[in-house]
Amino acid sequence: MSVLDDDIEATVVSTEEIQSKITELAARIDADYADREPLLVGVLKGAVMFMSDLARELSRPSTMEFMACSSYGSNTTSSGVVRILKDLDRDVTGLDILIVEDIIDSGLTLSWLLKNLQARNPASVEVVALLRKPDAIKVQVPVKYVGFDIPNEFVVGYGLDYAERYRDLPYIGRLRPSVYGG
Ligand code: 5GP
Ligand code: MG
Ligand code: MG
Repeated sequence: MSVLDDDIEATVVSTEEIQSKITELAARIDADYADREPLLVGVLKGAVMFMSDLARELSRPSTMEFMACSSYGSNTTSSGVVRILKDLDRDVTGLDILIVEDIIDSGLTLSWLLKNLQARNPASVEVVALLRKPDAIKVQVPVKYVGFDIPNEFVVGYGLDYAERYRDLPYIGRLRPSVYGG
């Protein structure tokens, strides 16, 4: 129990649901990458919890890289124009990239990231996202592995923030409107 729990109106995905979904996703990834070692590319900061739990659940070896991107536009809607704040530390030519994302909302960030990484001549690029919102359907982004489809509402926890807080909650929840100053 955390003092942050008081700010949460409802649980959207529980800790238990997250953990069992990760076990399921890891089994699929293990099977698909039976003869390859995926390079997990985590998108900072939201994917940190998911990436660390997923990597430990895979029974085969993987390696890790992180990227940080910022999308121009307001805080709540992304514009699709993306700037790299932190790039990969290595050349990914010939590697099997698995992008690890927290949530796909409009899909604009991911769509840009996919093109950017594909241009670096990896052997393959796939995506695993813990959460996906219905709007994601509007932009064609091929996402091979999806944890949960959730309603179109703002969620926090398990890596996802509101004003940099709530990332440390072990579950995904909906914030009380009073927290936004409403
Ligand atoms: P997209 O380009 O798909 O619209 O933006 C995706 C990014 O927006 C996510 O990686 C995440 O950082 C942020 N985002 C989208 N929906 C939510 C949400 O419900 N809660 C939080 N905390 N961040 C979100
Ligand atoms: Mg993200
Ligand atoms: Mg954020």
